[in-house]
Parts: sequence; structure tokens; C-alpha cells
Amino acid sequence: MIDLIKKYLNRNGFDSFDLKAVLFDMDGVLYNSMPAHAQSWQETMVEFGFETTSYNEFFMHEGRVAEATVDMIFERERNRKANADEQKEIYARKTELFQKYNSGKTIENSHSVIDLVKKRGLLPVLVTGSGQAALLDKLNDNFPNTFERNTMVTAFDVKIGKPHPEPFLMGLQKGGNLKPNQAIAIENAPLGTEAAHKAGVFTIAVNTGPLDTQVLWDSGADMVFDSMSEFYDTLPQLLDTLAEVKN
Ligand code: CA
Repeated sequence: MIDLIKKYLNRNGFDSFDLKAVLFDMDGVLYNSMPAHAQSWQETMVEFGFETTSYNEFFMHEGRVAEATVDMIFERERNRKANADEQKEIYARKTELFQKYNSGKTIENSHSVIDLVKKRGLLPVLVTGSGQAALLDKLNDNFPNTFERNTMVTAFDVKIGKPHPEPFLMGLQKGGNLKPNQAIAIENAPLGTEAAHKAGVFTIAVNTGPLDTQVLWDSGADMVFDSMSEFYDTLPQLLDTLAEVKN
């Protein structure tokens, strides 16, 4: 653990951590919503006549804003970007199917992680590319008194989106104009991990989906956990170590 932390400090030119906030991704970290996202994307694209997409592909796109995902598939099959009407129709259908399939279930132990973060005096900040009202509107019911509008980065805030560092840089800003060594990021997807890494934040990937764990290391994670339970069990020791390590 100490080696991984020192590696981060060396790479980013910091002497130590001064932890103030934890940047939480939403889908796949707080909500077990990724299977519903992948299924609704896949069905939508088949309905619109696309032939090369697969259920698992959407776990690789996870974290991208919807428009960028649609453009990527259009360019692959039709050698052009989607126009505004196509974007609107596809997103509307995908949202309709998502609302049908999404169970609203949270990831097991995500509540315990949030509670521990708050108990340690750290500020939870949401950093998501999602614009799904079905989840965003329920955040306060599922995770009461945790995220407020000014500590949330969503699809409505970001222009570029993951894997660009923009959402995490905004998260640092919303956390109180923080430097990268004043926060850690919790992600589950390769593009989100890449975005947090590029923002210079210590990035913890928790593999809650079907992808190979190596994909998360390769996309820049500083630590990788196989489940939220494993992460929760390690979190007290990790927070203690982050507070103590001097480079
Ligand atoms: Ca995610």
C-alpha cells in the first residue's frame, strides 16, 4: 500500500497528502446501474439499425457522455457523427429503456463507504457523466445529506466528459478549490479511471462489473479492488496511511 502511495506522490511531485474530499463516481460505484445502462444502450442501438455493438462494449464506454458514445458508434458504422435529431431520438429511447430496466439498487457497501468517509471528516463529492434524472433525483433518498448541488458534477456541468480530466478537475474545484493531493477518486470504469488519473488525483478503482481487473490498472488506477466490500474493509487503514506517508 505504502509503495503505491509513494509512487503516486513521486509521479505528481507531492510530498504528502492533505486529504479533504473523496470524489465518487456514481454508476457502478454508488448504484448498481451499469447492467441496465448496458442493456438499454445495446437494445437502442440494435433498434436504430446498428450491427457492431455488444452488451459488454458499453462497460468500456462507461463514463463517456451519451453524445460521445453515440458519435463513436456512428463513425464506426456510418463514417460520420450523429446529427442533433439522431442524438435526441437515440438518447430518448435509451433513457426510456433505462428507466424500465434500472432497479435503483445501490452497490453493496457503498453506504458504509460514504458513512466512513463522512465520519473521518472528509467531504464526499459526486463526479459523474450521467444526466439520468432517474438516479440523480434519488441520490438524496438513497444517500441522505451526502451530496448537494454545489458538490455534484454531472452531465449538466461538463462539456467534454471522461476520459478527459475535466469532470475531476471540476470535482476538485467543487470540493473547495482543492489541489489533486487533497482528494482521492473512487471509480469503477476504465475511462473514469483514466480521467481521474489525468486530473492528477490518487485513483482507486473498484471492479464492480464484468471487465478484467487488468483493464483498470492499465487505465491508470493507483489501487484496484475486486469489490466494494474489499475496498470498505481496507479503507480505514488506507485513510490512516494516506495521512501518515511522507515522501
Ligand atoms: Ca462508473
